Amino acid sequence: MAENEKINPFEMARKQIDIASKYLDLEPGLIEKLKHTKRELIVHFPVKMDDGAVRIFTGYRVQHNITRGPAKGGIRYHPDVDLDEVRALAMWMTWKSAVVNIPFGGAKGGVQCNPKEMSLNEIEHLTRRFTWEISLMLGPEQDIPAPDVNTNPQVMAWIMDTYSILKGYSVPGVVTGKPIELGGSLGRFEATGRGVVITSLEALKYLKKPIEGAKVAIQGCGNVGGVTAMHFDRLGAKVIAISDSQKGLYSEKGLDIKRVLDCKAKYKCFVCETKDETEITNQELLELDCDILVPAALETQITEKNAPRIKTKIIAEGANGPTTPEADEILNDKGIFVVPDILANAGGVTVSYFEWVQNLQELIWSEEEVLDRLTRIMQRSFKEVLEISQSKKIPMRTAALVLGIGRVAEATKLRGIYP
Ligand code: NAD
Repeated sequence: MAENEKINPFEMARKQIDIASKYLDLEPGLIEKLKHTKRELIVHFPVKMDDGAVRIFTGYRVQHNITRGPAKGGIRYHPDVDLDEVRALAMWMTWKSAVVNIPFGGAKGGVQCNPKEMSLNEIEHLTRRFTWEISLMLGPEQDIPAPDVNTNPQVMAWIMDTYSILKGYSVPGVVTGKPIELGGSLGRFEATGRGVVITSLEALKYLKKPIEGAKVAIQGCGNVGGVTAMHFDRLGAKVIAISDSQKGLYSEKGLDIKRVLDCKAKYKCFVCETKDETEITNQELLELDCDILVPAALETQITEKNAPRIKTKIIAEGANGPTTPEADEILNDKGIFVVPDILANAGGVTVSYFEWVQNLQELIWSEEEVLDRLTRIMQRSFKEVLEISQSKKIPMRTAALVLGIGRVAEATKLRGIYP
């Protein structure tokens, strides 16, 4: 790979299908179907900015597959959002829903924008207009968005409100990750991070290593990274490093994670506050000597370039697509145990499913009930993936893909090809 060449996540996701297909007995036509997305909508829409100027934004909604149920997947606001990134993220959502065996397909959406340079008012206008533009694809039975990078419960509330105004009645089931007051599920905000921790605990158990004192490094401190850090800390692990898009903090003794995250929330950046803490780059964080490395930021962070220098024993992928297939081979040769994204971060879509079920049935589950169900699903899914990995002697990622793609392929065969 040439220096600075951008890795295309959709090509990466398609390559993963080729790798997994070797262990699945699928017709070439079916593989080809799974390699294609079902529906793609690109919208260019105007937003009135605070200074009165009108700016045009580009947004995407892609449904990769709806064979097993309604399309499901988050909405991302980021300057690098493009069609191939959204396609890849939609495809990974399809496999993820199938790995945890919930009745959803896969979708993703995004708007190319820099929310860090926008006011709350401008983000609200962008969200409402984008929702209106893609509303023809949305609906509790059709396609249900959720939060992703730079979107949060407030953004989900605006999506729900805009869609409900369009329909003329309240439709809480059109989106998940909503504020609790609007039908959000208890435990949804923490769900992805909790899922990362539950599957990491299973990996530690399998490798016969204790959680107490385990050294954890986390790239990203948003919804996924922040919650993961807090839960590892509570369980007695030592979070030795955490980062944002600018830089990270490192302490061999372990960071006071609550103080560090409070400080980041207050000053919008990491600040060294004790003599034990030093600043590190995101690259240095990924290469730290630790027990568990959690990439929880963006795609393609672990590549063939830095994989040879990665020293962790376990990688639990909070982010979607953080590791390229070339890097996977190197990690595998090094004996690093990878809990792949479509398993490790599936806690989010699992509790989104609980939220959707509660909305459709007008039920309210307790946090205990949500966490209990989440834990059982994550542990069962880990076990199923591990069994495939061991019986077929393949890495955990390939095993998860075999499970997820296999379930979608089976459902496709049962439904048949229309007409
Ligand atoms: P977020 O916006 O809450 O946080 C993103 C974090 O990544 C921030 O801390 C940001 O500073 C950091 N970051 C951004 N660019 C970076 C860079 N170049 N290098 C290092 N750090 C960088 O987003 P999130 O919801 O926590 O999502 C993080 C990842 O987890 C994404 O890959 C997302 O697709 C995946 N994910 C999220 C959920 C969910 O429920 N939110 C579920 C499954 C997977």
